[in-house]
Amino acid sequence: MGLFSKEACTFCGTEVGALKRSKLATKEYICNDCKRKTNYFARMDYTSRDAAQRMMDTLAQEAADFEASFDAAEGRFARAERSFNTWDLGRTRVHYRCNTALGAFQLKLDVMSREAQIPVFWFSRMIPYELRPEGDVFDGARRGEVMNAAAEYARVEEERDGEGKVKRCTLLFPYDDAAIREVRIQSDVDEKDVADFHDLANRINRDRRAWLGKSEFDLERKNEMQLRNLGDTAAAALKAALTGGSVEEAVKEGVEMANDIEEGKVKQGFFGKLFRK
Ligand SMILES: [Zn+2]
Repeated sequence: MGLFSKEACTFCGTEVGALKRSKLATKEYICNDCKRKTNYFARMDYTSRDAAQRMMDTLAQEAADFEASFDAAEGRFARAERSFNTWDLGRTRVHYRCNTALGAFQLKLDVMSREAQIPVFWFSRMIPYELRPEGDVFDGARRGEVMNAAAEYARVEEERDGEGKVKRCTLLFPYDDAAIREVRIQSDVDEKDVADFHDLANRINRDRRAWLGKSEFDLERKNEMQLRNLGDTAAAALKAALTGGSVEEAVKEGVEMANDIEEGKVKQGFFGKLFRK
């Protein structure tokens, strides 16, 4: 097992050398060609075989759905959002577009030209990653983080040289996905480039707030919350079953939460509070 030994890709079976493969968190190898079908920002050492497979199975549909979401929105507003905007972040060119009604955006870097898909990111998952045991519930405290309108999750890190000049910038935001955890876009910069990094970070934060504030799109958000609640309830019921807790109680709580979401009570709880202060 050295630099020159070949290993078979766990997905396509091609034997590849060390430079053309990565090792997955579950220790299998993935070749570069198969890796291009996963999320560009996923780290293979965080990614299980199942998670990589899931990305390969779902990213194309997700990108297509995202594209279609602009058709669903109407009028000038949609036209304005559909096209990519471009930022030159130092030596890295970044294309960004967001559907603030859906709460999702895409990031495309010029270095991603060989990637199979432009990944879609969701504001509902743009919160610090937390390791959760499989099947654990997405608790209310975390939902508060998603809905926190004051949070500026996209930010810029600046590295300075000995004279105090910024020499490198990183745009980063947290992402609650075991395979990604954090998105980082980094480049060496000249002093004049620094503002561009902040400009894109501000744009992402502003779009996130726009998503939170779009009350006319309550329905989508409700649906998403319902889906999530369904998953949470199933997970809570499973956990209760495994640990000798009350499955009935878990399901009852899930149903109550579903009713609250439908009646807009959950929205009131989070949004009412946040926007009134
Ligand atoms: Zn492969």
